[in-house]
Amino acid sequence: MIQAGLKEISAALAEKKISAIELATLFLGRIEQLNPSLNAFITTDRDKTLAMARAADERRAKGERGPLLGIPLAHKDIFCTEGWLTTCGSKMLANFVSPYDAHVVSQFKAAGAVTLGKCNMDEFAMGSSNETSHFGPVKNPWDTSRVPGGSSGGSAAAVAACLTPAATGTDTGGSIRQPAALCGLTGLKPTYGVVSRYGMIAFASSLDQGGPMAKSAEDCALLLSGMAGFDERDSTSLQRKAEDYSRDLNKPLAGLRIGLPKEFFGAGMDDDVRAAVDAALDEYRKLGATTVEVSLPNSGLSVPAYYVIAPAEASSNLSRFDGVRYGHRAAVYGDLVDMYCKSRAGGFGEEVKRRILIGTYVLSHGYYDAYYLQAQKIRRLIATDFSEAFKKCDVIMGPTSPSVAFAFGAKGADPVQMYLADIYTIAVNLAGLPGMSIPCGFGNADMPVGLQIIGPWFAEAKMLNVAHQYQLVTDWHRRRPERGA
Ligand code: GLN
Repeated sequence: MIQAGLKEISAALAEKKISAIELATLFLGRIEQLNPSLNAFITTDRDKTLAMARAADERRAKGERGPLLGIPLAHKDIFCTEGWLTTCGSKMLANFVSPYDAHVVSQFKAAGAVTLGKCNMDEFAMGSSNETSHFGPVKNPWDTSRVPGGSSGGSAAAVAACLTPAATGTDTGGSIRQPAALCGLTGLKPTYGVVSRYGMIAFASSLDQGGPMAKSAEDCALLLSGMAGFDERDSTSLQRKAEDYSRDLNKPLAGLRIGLPKEFFGAGMDDDVRAAVDAALDEYRKLGATTVEVSLPNSGLSVPAYYVIAPAEASSNLSRFDGVRYGHRAAVYGDLVDMYCKSRAGGFGEEVKRRILIGTYVLSHGYYDAYYLQAQKIRRLIATDFSEAFKKCDVIMGPTSPSVAFAFGAKGADPVQMYLADIYTIAVNLAGLPGMSIPCGFGNADMPVGLQIIGPWFAEAKMLNVAHQYQLVTDWHRRRPERGA
């Protein structure tokens, strides 16, 4: 069961081969054993988890059924969970017990899923390596001297090492897809507005989107069906009918047109990543797909545009952490302003402060037009590039990350080097498109490589179909690190 996918676990629960309590106990034991070395979880609470599992078993005994009833899940610590510590990876919220559930959390609760704990992450989801967490870095289970990616690195490491069958993540500039790639998982960032942001601690509101991280496209489809849906508490939640994202999984791929952006296949991608991506494309051709070159001429501007827009929104969102209502408050201070200053200076880490400073700067009088407005115009151009490209293809493919997982400290000294780790993922967020990453082989040092699949708005079911068909003929997604065995 430790290695099993959600479908298998769900079937075992339905056939009464295992109970939700037994499952939860199994995974809690695994967390106890491996988390000290991986640091994937910030919080676990055996009593709360077992109470949820017991409730799921009781619901089943009363005749209730459902694919998620009794399934253990972990949540990125950015999702508010009632009665649980919700830290967002920050000292600022190190003592914050949420009084309410995020929409995503309440959806899973209603479906009977069992919360195993809260996963480590980069502070306020700012980072690509999990090194900015106040609670220490997460280790990549494939090689503990390397990063798991970020910012959903705790979720990724937890799933890869089988501490949980699946987890939630959030993706503002690649934080589901990049750690999924670096840890050998399947992860999906939905179209902006498909998953409610209510109770998901805000980083950059126009880019943030929650999504599933799991071992396969099949599992992601099941989870997304549970997470998505209109929520009036998020003003950008889309009023769309509920969808069954598993509905197209088994469609054949003959005739699928795959767009390959020439900008993604130029310099910048490591040779080992290129070899794995090329081999995956060959596999797709065997499945009946054709490839066509497309162009995203403004994609080179996505990193600079993102690093204006995301910090601008973050500087505004993070102004609520003032030491007054909740979170860290300095122990010693003078007047009110001094309390704000000392609490913020002491509660935020270096990367968060850097982003707040950049954001405040680009929004200030005189610079707004020069930076923020320009970045918004580039954002529109990038979205238009994708619309043009999708006239020639059904999905776009390329690498998720330019390299396999790197060593701790390798990019820490130079923030720009770290920002470039998201060069292939960020444009997708700027355009609000759905994107996913699936394992497609191994590169240098036997580390996993991710293939990115990008679709038009609302093409999640199609993308999951494209991913699933590949996973039927390959077994990269079934490989587990030794620690996961
Ligand atoms: N690595 C990017 C950043 O630091 C993306 C983070 C994210 O998607 N949350 O902003």
